[in-house]
Amino acid sequence: MSQTVIIIGAGQAGGQCALALRQNGFEGPVILIGDEPYVPYERPPLSKSYLAGDVPEERMFMRPEAFYAEKNITLMRGVAVTRVDRATRTVQLSTGDTLTYAKVVFATGGRVRKMTCPGADLPGVHYLRNIDDVRAYKERLAPGLKLVIVGGGYIGLEVAAVAIKRGCTVTVLEMMPLVLNRVVAPEMSAFFSEVHRAAGVDLRTSTAVTAFEGDGKLARVRCGDQVIDADLAIVGIGIVPNVERAAEAGLACDNGIMVDECMRTADPDVFAAGDCTNHINPVIGGRLRLESVPNALAQGKAAALAILGKPEPVTEVPWFWSDQYDLKLQMTGLSRQGDTIVIRGSMADRKFSACYLRDGVFVACQAVNMAKDFLQSKKLIAERARPDPARLADPAVALRDL
Ligand SMILES: Cc1cc2nc3c(=O)[nH]c(=O)nc-3n(C[C@H](O)[C@H](O)[C@H](O)COP(=O)(O)OP(=O)(O)OC[C@H]3O[C@@H](n4cnc5c(N)ncnc54)[C@H](O)[C@@H]3O)c2cc1C
Repeated sequence: MSQTVIIIGAGQAGGQCALALRQNGFEGPVILIGDEPYVPYERPPLSKSYLAGDVPEERMFMRPEAFYAEKNITLMRGVAVTRVDRATRTVQLSTGDTLTYAKVVFATGGRVRKMTCPGADLPGVHYLRNIDDVRAYKERLAPGLKLVIVGGGYIGLEVAAVAIKRGCTVTVLEMMPLVLNRVVAPEMSAFFSEVHRAAGVDLRTSTAVTAFEGDGKLARVRCGDQVIDADLAIVGIGIVPNVERAAEAGLACDNGIMVDECMRTADPDVFAAGDCTNHINPVIGGRLRLESVPNALAQGKAAALAILGKPEPVTEVPWFWSDQYDLKLQMTGLSRQGDTIVIRGSMADRKFSACYLRDGVFVACQAVNMAKDFLQSKKLIAERARPDPARLADPAVALRDL
Protein backbone atom coordinates (compact mmCIF):
# COMPACT_ATOMS: atom_id res chain seq x y z
CA MET A 1 0.00 0.00 0.00
CA SER A 2 1.18 3.50 -0.79
CA GLN A 3 2.79 5.30 2.11
CA THR A 4 3.00 8.52 0.16
CA VAL A 5 2.35 11.80 1.93
CA ILE A 6 1.28 14.57 -0.43
CA ILE A 7 1.49 18.15 0.80
CA ILE A 8 -0.51 20.69 -1.20
CA GLY A 9 1.08 24.13 -1.00
CA ALA A 10 4.81 24.79 -0.72
CA GLY A 11 4.73 27.73 1.66
CA GLN A 12 6.14 27.79 5.16
CA ALA A 13 3.53 25.40 6.59
CA GLY A 14 3.99 22.91 3.74
CA GLY A 15 7.79 23.17 3.79
CA GLN A 16 7.90 22.69 7.54
CA CYS A 17 5.56 19.72 7.38
CA ALA A 18 7.80 17.95 4.83
CA LEU A 19 10.86 18.64 6.93
CA ALA A 20 9.20 17.51 10.18
CA LEU A 21 8.18 14.22 8.57
CA ARG A 22 11.84 13.48 7.88
CA GLN A 23 13.04 14.81 11.24
CA ASN A 24 10.64 12.44 12.93
CA GLY A 25 11.81 9.37 11.09
CA PHE A 26 9.32 9.05 8.23
CA GLU A 27 11.02 7.24 5.37
CA GLY A 28 8.18 6.95 2.84
CA PRO A 29 7.70 9.20 -0.17
CA VAL A 30 6.97 12.88 0.54
CA ILE A 31 5.70 15.03 -2.34
CA LEU A 32 5.49 18.78 -1.80
CA ILE A 33 3.44 20.49 -4.51
CA GLY A 34 3.43 24.27 -4.94
CA ASP A 35 1.90 26.42 -7.65
CA GLU A 36 4.51 29.17 -7.26
CA PRO A 37 7.77 28.77 -9.20
CA TYR A 38 9.89 29.03 -6.01
CA VAL A 39 11.14 26.78 -3.23
CA PRO A 40 9.27 27.48 0.04
CA TYR A 41 10.09 31.00 1.18
CA GLU A 42 9.39 33.45 3.99
CA ARG A 43 6.85 36.12 3.17
CA PRO A 44 7.58 38.68 5.95
CA PRO A 45 10.55 40.29 4.12
CA LEU A 46 8.29 40.96 1.11
CA SER A 47 6.91 44.06 2.82
CA LYS A 48 10.07 44.81 4.78
CA SER A 49 13.74 44.14 3.93
CA TYR A 50 13.17 42.61 0.46
CA LEU A 51 10.94 45.48 -0.64
CA ALA A 52 13.52 47.89 0.77
CA GLY A 53 16.20 46.21 -1.36
CA ASP A 54 18.16 45.15 1.72
CA VAL A 55 18.08 41.39 1.12
CA PRO A 56 18.31 39.34 -2.08
CA GLU A 57 15.60 36.87 -3.02
CA GLU A 58 17.60 33.78 -2.01
CA ARG A 59 17.75 34.99 1.58
CA MET A 60 13.99 34.48 1.84
CA PHE A 61 14.13 30.80 0.90
CA MET A 62 13.54 28.55 3.91
CA ARG A 63 16.15 26.13 2.57
CA PRO A 64 18.13 25.88 -0.70
CA GLU A 65 16.64 23.66 -3.40
CA ALA A 66 19.31 20.97 -2.93
CA PHE A 67 18.14 20.47 0.65
CA TYR A 68 14.85 18.94 -0.51
CA ALA A 69 16.64 16.45 -2.74
CA GLU A 70 19.01 15.56 0.10
CA LYS A 71 16.03 14.82 2.32
CA ASN A 72 14.41 12.82 -0.46
CA ILE A 73 11.48 15.25 -0.62
CA THR A 74 10.02 15.56 -4.11
CA LEU A 75 9.39 19.27 -4.64
CA MET A 76 7.09 20.08 -7.55
CA ARG A 77 7.25 23.80 -8.35
CA GLY A 78 4.82 25.68 -10.55
CA VAL A 79 2.30 22.85 -10.30
CA ALA A 80 -1.22 23.28 -8.91
CA VAL A 81 -3.41 20.61 -7.40
CA THR A 82 -6.69 20.95 -9.27
CA ARG A 83 -8.74 18.28 -7.48
CA VAL A 84 -8.58 15.99 -4.49
CA ASP A 85 -10.65 12.80 -4.56
CA ARG A 86 -10.90 11.25 -1.12
CA ALA A 87 -12.72 8.15 -2.36
CA THR A 88 -9.79 7.11 -4.57
CA ARG A 89 -7.16 8.92 -2.47
CA THR A 90 -5.87 10.75 -5.49
CA VAL A 91 -4.89 14.29 -6.37
CA GLN A 92 -5.05 15.67 -9.86
CA LEU A 93 -2.39 18.10 -11.02
CA SER A 94 -2.40 21.00 -13.46
CA THR A 95 0.08 18.94 -15.51
CA GLY A 96 -2.67 16.37 -16.15
CA ASP A 97 -1.02 13.78 -13.88
CA THR A 98 -2.77 11.97 -11.03
CA LEU A 99 -0.98 10.94 -7.84
CA THR A 100 -2.13 8.58 -5.10
CA TYR A 101 -1.68 9.37 -1.42
CA ALA A 102 -1.89 7.58 1.89
CA LYS A 103 -2.14 10.92 3.71
CA VAL A 104 -2.66 14.39 2.31
CA VAL A 105 -2.01 17.79 3.90
CA PHE A 106 -3.65 21.01 2.77
CA ALA A 107 -1.14 23.81 3.34
CA THR A 108 -2.71 26.08 0.76
CA GLY A 109 -2.44 29.39 2.63
CA GLY A 110 -4.40 32.35 1.36
CA ARG A 111 -4.68 34.71 -1.59
CA VAL A 112 -5.13 38.47 -1.54
CA ARG A 113 -8.59 39.93 -1.25
CA LYS A 114 -9.10 41.95 -4.44
CA MET A 115 -10.64 45.35 -4.97
CA THR A 116 -13.88 45.27 -6.93
CA CYS A 117 -14.46 48.98 -7.57
CA PRO A 118 -14.26 50.51 -11.08
CA GLY A 119 -10.71 50.60 -12.45
CA ALA A 120 -9.46 47.85 -10.13
CA ASP A 121 -7.94 46.06 -13.14
CA LEU A 122 -5.97 49.07 -14.42
CA PRO A 123 -2.25 48.52 -14.88
CA GLY A 124 -0.59 50.13 -11.88
CA VAL A 125 -2.93 48.60 -9.30
CA HIS A 126 -0.93 45.95 -7.44
CA TYR A 127 -1.12 43.61 -4.45
CA LEU A 128 1.41 42.08 -2.07
CA ARG A 129 1.44 38.38 -1.33
CA ASN A 130 4.26 36.77 -3.24
CA ILE A 131 7.68 37.37 -4.78
CA ASP A 132 6.23 38.04 -8.23
CA ASP A 133 3.95 40.77 -6.85
CA VAL A 134 6.92 42.61 -5.33
CA ARG A 135 9.17 42.06 -8.35
CA ALA A 136 6.64 43.99 -10.42
CA TYR A 137 7.12 47.26 -8.52
CA LYS A 138 10.10 47.00 -6.17
CA GLU A 139 12.42 48.99 -8.43
CA ARG A 140 9.80 51.68 -8.98
CA LEU A 141 9.91 52.82 -5.35
CA ALA A 142 12.10 55.85 -5.92
CA PRO A 143 12.02 59.61 -5.27
CA GLY A 144 9.12 61.28 -7.02
CA LEU A 145 6.91 58.20 -7.27
CA LYS A 146 3.36 58.91 -6.13
CA LEU A 147 2.35 55.80 -4.24
CA VAL A 148 -1.12 55.20 -2.86
CA ILE A 149 -1.46 52.36 -0.38
CA VAL A 150 -4.95 50.97 0.13
CA GLY A 151 -5.38 49.50 3.60
CA GLY A 152 -3.91 50.61 6.91
CA GLY A 153 -3.12 47.15 8.25
CA TYR A 154 0.36 45.81 8.97
CA ILE A 155 1.25 45.24 5.36
CA GLY A 156 0.09 48.67 4.21
CA LEU A 157 1.95 50.42 7.01
CA GLU A 158 5.12 48.41 6.47
CA VAL A 159 5.07 49.32 2.78
CA ALA A 160 4.50 52.96 3.71
CA ALA A 161 7.58 52.93 5.97
CA VAL A 162 9.76 51.43 3.21
CA ALA A 163 8.41 53.76 0.52
CA ILE A 164 9.00 56.87 2.64
CA LYS A 165 12.58 55.73 3.16
CA ARG A 166 12.90 55.33 -0.61
CA GLY A 167 11.76 58.92 -1.16
CA CYS A 168 8.25 58.27 -2.52
CA THR A 169 5.24 60.49 -1.92
CA VAL A 170 3.04 58.18 0.12
CA THR A 171 -0.69 58.27 0.80
CA VAL A 172 -2.35 55.58 2.92
CA LEU A 173 -6.10 55.15 2.63
CA GLU A 174 -7.93 53.30 5.38
CA MET A 175 -11.70 52.91 5.23
CA MET A 176 -12.07 52.42 9.01
CA PRO A 177 -11.65 55.33 11.45
CA LEU A 178 -8.42 53.80 12.80
CA VAL A 179 -5.40 52.04 11.33
CA LEU A 180 -4.63 48.49 12.52
CA ASN A 181 -8.27 48.53 13.46
CA ARG A 182 -8.75 44.79 13.86
CA VAL A 183 -5.79 44.09 16.05
CA VAL A 184 -4.77 46.89 18.40
CA ALA A 185 -6.37 49.24 20.93
CA PRO A 186 -7.18 52.81 19.85
CA GLU A 187 -4.18 54.11 21.84
CA MET A 188 -1.82 51.93 19.78
CA SER A 189 -3.56 52.86 16.59
CA ALA A 190 -3.17 56.56 17.41
CA PHE A 191 0.53 56.00 18.14
CA PHE A 192 1.16 54.36 14.78
CA SER A 193 -0.87 56.99 12.91
CA GLU A 194 1.22 59.71 14.53
CA VAL A 195 4.48 57.93 13.68
CA HIS A 196 3.53 57.65 10.01
CA ARG A 197 2.27 61.22 9.75
CA ALA A 198 5.45 62.51 11.39
CA ALA A 199 7.46 60.54 8.81
CA GLY A 200 5.60 62.30 5.99
CA VAL A 201 2.81 59.86 5.12
CA ASP A 202 -0.49 61.41 4.08
CA LEU A 203 -2.64 59.07 6.16
CA ARG A 204 -6.37 59.31 5.59
CA THR A 205 -8.73 57.25 7.72
CA SER A 206 -12.49 56.79 7.20
CA THR A 207 -11.59 57.03 3.52
CA ALA A 208 -12.77 54.30 1.18
CA VAL A 209 -11.60 53.94 -2.41
CA THR A 210 -14.46 54.26 -4.88
CA ALA A 211 -12.50 54.01 -8.14
CA PHE A 212 -9.06 53.74 -9.69
CA GLU A 213 -8.87 56.09 -12.67
CA GLY A 214 -6.55 56.69 -15.61
CA ASP A 215 -6.30 56.43 -19.35
CA GLY A 216 -4.99 52.90 -19.92
CA LYS A 217 -3.00 52.98 -16.69
CA LEU A 218 -3.47 54.22 -13.15
CA ALA A 219 -3.27 58.00 -12.75
CA ARG A 220 -5.63 58.75 -9.85
CA VAL A 221 -7.37 57.10 -6.93
CA ARG A 222 -10.83 58.40 -6.16
CA CYS A 223 -12.42 58.26 -2.72
CA GLY A 224 -15.80 59.92 -3.25
CA ASP A 225 -15.00 63.62 -3.65
CA GLN A 226 -11.33 63.21 -2.87
CA VAL A 227 -8.95 62.52 -5.75
CA ILE A 228 -5.33 61.52 -5.18
CA ASP A 229 -2.76 61.46 -7.99
CA ALA A 230 -1.10 58.06 -8.20
CA ASP A 231 1.62 56.39 -10.28
CA LEU A 232 1.26 53.14 -8.38
CA ALA A 233 -1.24 51.66 -5.94
CA ILE A 234 -0.48 48.79 -3.61
CA VAL A 235 -3.52 47.18 -2.06
CA GLY A 236 -3.29 45.38 1.28
CA ILE A 237 -6.82 44.62 2.45
CA GLY A 238 -6.43 41.12 3.77
CA ILE A 239 -6.49 37.60 2.47
CA VAL A 240 -9.02 34.92 1.66
CA PRO A 241 -8.05 31.38 2.75
CA ASN A 242 -7.55 28.91 -0.09
CA VAL A 243 -10.14 26.30 0.86
CA GLU A 244 -11.76 25.54 -2.49
CA ARG A 245 -9.97 22.23 -3.18
CA ALA A 246 -10.75 21.05 0.36
CA ALA A 247 -14.39 22.13 0.16
CA GLU A 248 -14.84 20.42 -3.21
CA ALA A 249 -13.45 17.26 -1.60
CA GLY A 250 -16.26 17.44 0.94
CA LEU A 251 -14.23 18.68 3.91
CA ALA A 252 -15.84 21.08 6.36
CA CYS A 253 -14.71 24.68 5.79
CA ASP A 254 -15.74 27.86 7.54
CA ASN A 255 -13.27 30.71 7.16
CA GLY A 256 -10.62 28.00 6.82
CA ILE A 257 -10.40 24.23 6.69
CA MET A 258 -11.80 22.90 9.96
CA VAL A 259 -9.15 21.02 11.96
CA ASP A 260 -8.69 20.16 15.62
CA GLU A 261 -5.76 21.23 17.79
CA CYS A 262 -3.57 18.53 16.14
CA MET A 263 -4.36 19.62 12.55
CA ARG A 264 -6.67 16.67 11.86
CA THR A 265 -9.79 17.00 9.72
CA ALA A 266 -12.75 14.65 10.12
CA ASP A 267 -11.06 12.34 7.55
CA PRO A 268 -8.24 10.40 9.27
CA ASP A 269 -6.12 10.63 6.10
CA VAL A 270 -6.48 14.38 5.60
CA PHE A 271 -4.74 17.17 7.52
CA ALA A 272 -4.36 20.92 7.13
CA ALA A 273 -1.84 23.50 8.38
CA GLY A 274 -1.10 27.23 8.29
CA ASP A 275 -3.10 30.25 7.12
CA CYS A 276 -5.76 28.01 5.53
CA THR A 277 -6.94 26.43 8.81
CA ASN A 278 -9.75 27.22 11.16
CA HIS A 279 -8.27 25.46 14.17
CA ILE A 280 -8.78 24.94 17.87
CA ASN A 281 -6.25 26.75 20.04
CA PRO A 282 -6.37 25.45 23.62
CA VAL A 283 -4.53 28.54 24.96
CA ILE A 284 -6.96 31.00 23.44
CA GLY A 285 -9.78 28.64 24.28
CA GLY A 286 -11.63 28.52 20.98
CA ARG A 287 -11.50 28.32 17.20
CA LEU A 288 -9.68 30.82 15.05
CA ARG A 289 -7.73 31.31 11.84
CA LEU A 290 -4.30 32.86 12.20
CA GLU A 291 -2.05 34.45 9.63
CA SER A 292 1.43 34.23 11.06
CA VAL A 293 4.72 32.48 10.43
CA PRO A 294 5.05 30.95 13.93
CA ASN A 295 1.59 29.46 13.49
CA ALA A 296 2.39 28.09 10.01
CA LEU A 297 5.58 26.45 11.31
CA ALA A 298 3.98 25.02 14.45
CA GLN A 299 1.02 23.66 12.52
CA GLY A 300 3.20 22.22 9.75
CA LYS A 301 5.11 20.29 12.39
CA ALA A 302 1.92 19.25 14.20
CA ALA A 303 0.41 17.91 10.96
CA ALA A 304 3.54 15.79 10.44
CA LEU A 305 3.33 14.38 13.98
CA ALA A 306 -0.36 13.60 13.58
CA ILE A 307 0.38 11.76 10.32
CA LEU A 308 3.01 9.72 12.14
CA GLY A 309 0.50 8.73 14.81
CA LYS A 310 2.10 10.95 17.46
CA PRO A 311 -0.42 13.82 17.62
CA GLU A 312 0.57 16.78 19.74
CA PRO A 313 -1.73 19.79 20.14
CA VAL A 314 -0.36 23.17 19.14
CA THR A 315 -0.46 25.04 22.43
CA GLU A 316 1.68 28.01 21.45
CA VAL A 317 0.47 31.48 22.38
CA PRO A 318 -0.11 33.24 19.02
CA TRP A 319 2.63 35.75 18.20
CA PHE A 320 3.51 38.07 15.37
CA TRP A 321 5.79 40.97 14.54
CA SER A 322 5.90 44.04 12.33
CA ASP A 323 8.78 46.35 11.42
CA GLN A 324 8.04 50.00 10.65
CA TYR A 325 10.84 52.61 10.60
CA ASP A 326 12.88 52.13 13.79
CA LEU A 327 9.96 50.39 15.49
CA LYS A 328 9.99 46.67 16.17
CA LEU A 329 6.45 45.78 17.12
CA GLN A 330 6.13 42.31 18.64
CA MET A 331 2.78 40.93 19.68
CA THR A 332 1.66 38.00 21.80
CA GLY A 333 -1.88 36.81 22.45
CA LEU A 334 -4.97 38.30 20.89
CA SER A 335 -6.55 41.52 22.10
CA ARG A 336 -10.19 42.43 21.64
CA GLN A 337 -12.25 45.57 21.82
CA GLY A 338 -13.25 46.20 25.42
CA ASP A 339 -10.01 44.83 26.96
CA THR A 340 -8.40 47.10 29.54
CA ILE A 341 -5.12 48.46 28.24
CA VAL A 342 -2.14 49.20 30.50
CA ILE A 343 0.84 51.03 28.99
CA ARG A 344 4.35 50.30 30.32
CA GLY A 345 7.17 52.63 29.32
CA SER A 346 7.12 55.74 27.17
CA MET A 347 5.24 56.18 23.90
CA ALA A 348 7.13 59.46 23.38
CA ASP A 349 10.45 57.58 23.56
CA ARG A 350 9.07 54.89 21.24
CA LYS A 351 9.81 52.21 23.82
CA PHE A 352 6.75 50.81 25.51
CA SER A 353 4.36 47.87 25.77
CA ALA A 354 0.60 47.82 25.62
CA CYS A 355 -0.69 45.07 27.90
CA TYR A 356 -4.27 43.91 27.66
CA LEU A 357 -6.36 42.60 30.55
CA ARG A 358 -9.72 40.90 30.11
CA ASP A 359 -11.62 40.58 33.37
CA GLY A 360 -8.24 41.00 35.08
CA VAL A 361 -6.57 38.22 33.08
CA PHE A 362 -3.46 39.07 31.02
CA VAL A 363 -4.46 38.17 27.44
CA ALA A 364 -2.14 40.06 25.09
CA CYS A 365 0.93 42.25 24.85
CA GLN A 366 2.05 44.53 22.03
CA ALA A 367 5.63 45.54 22.66
CA VAL A 368 7.30 48.38 20.76
CA ASN A 369 11.09 48.12 21.00
CA MET A 370 10.60 46.14 24.23
CA ALA A 371 11.83 42.66 23.35
CA LYS A 372 11.94 41.52 26.98
CA ASP A 373 8.27 42.28 27.54
CA PHE A 374 7.41 40.42 24.36
CA LEU A 375 9.29 37.31 25.47
CA GLN A 376 8.09 37.36 29.05
CA SER A 377 4.47 38.08 28.20
CA LYS A 378 4.04 34.67 26.53
CA LYS A 379 4.28 32.92 29.88
CA LEU A 380 1.84 35.30 31.57
CA ILE A 381 -0.69 34.67 28.80
CA ALA A 382 -0.22 30.89 28.86
CA GLU A 383 -0.66 30.89 32.65
CA ARG A 384 -3.67 33.21 32.51
CA ALA A 385 -1.92 35.47 35.03
CA ARG A 386 -3.83 38.19 36.90
CA PRO A 387 -1.19 40.90 37.45
CA ASP A 388 -1.75 43.92 39.68
CA PRO A 389 -2.42 46.73 37.13
CA ALA A 390 -0.34 49.24 39.12
CA ARG A 391 2.75 47.00 39.10
CA LEU A 392 2.07 46.07 35.49
CA ALA A 393 2.22 49.75 34.56
CA ASP A 394 5.68 50.09 36.11
CA PRO A 395 8.33 49.22 33.49
CA ALA A 396 10.88 48.78 36.30
CA VAL A 397 8.98 45.65 37.34
CA ALA A 398 9.82 42.82 34.97
CA LEU A 399 6.80 41.04 33.54
CA ARG A 400 8.18 37.71 34.70
CA ASP A 401 7.98 39.00 38.30
CA LEU A 402 4.26 39.62 38.03
C1 LIG B 1 3.81 40.82 2.86
C2 LIG B 1 3.60 39.90 4.01
C3 LIG B 1 4.22 40.18 5.22
C4 LIG B 1 4.05 39.33 6.30
N1 LIG B 1 4.66 39.62 7.49
C5 LIG B 1 4.56 38.76 8.52
C6 LIG B 1 5.28 39.01 9.73
O1 LIG B 1 5.97 40.02 9.88
N2 LIG B 1 5.18 38.09 10.72
C7 LIG B 1 4.42 36.97 10.59
O2 LIG B 1 4.37 36.15 11.51
N3 LIG B 1 3.71 36.72 9.45
C8 LIG B 1 3.76 37.59 8.42
N4 LIG B 1 3.08 37.34 7.27
C9 LIG B 1 2.17 36.19 7.21
C10 LIG B 1 2.91 34.92 6.90
O3 LIG B 1 3.79 35.12 5.83
C11 LIG B 1 1.90 33.81 6.62
O4 LIG B 1 1.14 33.61 7.78
C12 LIG B 1 2.59 32.52 6.21
O5 LIG B 1 3.32 32.69 5.03
C13 LIG B 1 1.57 31.41 6.02
O6 LIG B 1 2.19 30.28 5.50
P1 LIG B 1 1.34 29.15 4.80
O7 LIG B 1 2.34 28.13 4.35
O8 LIG B 1 0.23 28.73 5.68
O9 LIG B 1 0.63 29.83 3.55
P2 LIG B 1 1.25 30.53 2.26
O10 LIG B 1 2.51 31.22 2.59
O11 LIG B 1 0.14 31.29 1.66
O12 LIG B 1 1.63 29.30 1.32
C14 LIG B 1 0.66 28.50 0.66
C15 LIG B 1 1.19 28.12 -0.69
O13 LIG B 1 0.30 27.18 -1.28
C16 LIG B 1 0.11 27.50 -2.64
N5 LIG B 1 -1.13 26.87 -3.10
C17 LIG B 1 -2.39 27.22 -2.81
N6 LIG B 1 -3.28 26.40 -3.42
C18 LIG B 1 -2.55 25.49 -4.12
C19 LIG B 1 -2.88 24.40 -4.95
N7 LIG B 1 -4.13 24.06 -5.19
N8 LIG B 1 -1.87 23.69 -5.51
C20 LIG B 1 -0.58 24.02 -5.28
N9 LIG B 1 -0.21 25.06 -4.51
C21 LIG B 1 -1.17 25.78 -3.92
C22 LIG B 1 0.09 29.01 -2.61
O14 LIG B 1 0.32 29.59 -3.88
C23 LIG B 1 1.26 29.28 -1.65
O15 LIG B 1 2.48 29.28 -2.32
C24 LIG B 1 3.23 38.18 6.17
C25 LIG B 1 2.60 37.90 4.95
C26 LIG B 1 2.78 38.75 3.88
C27 LIG B 1 2.11 38.44 2.56
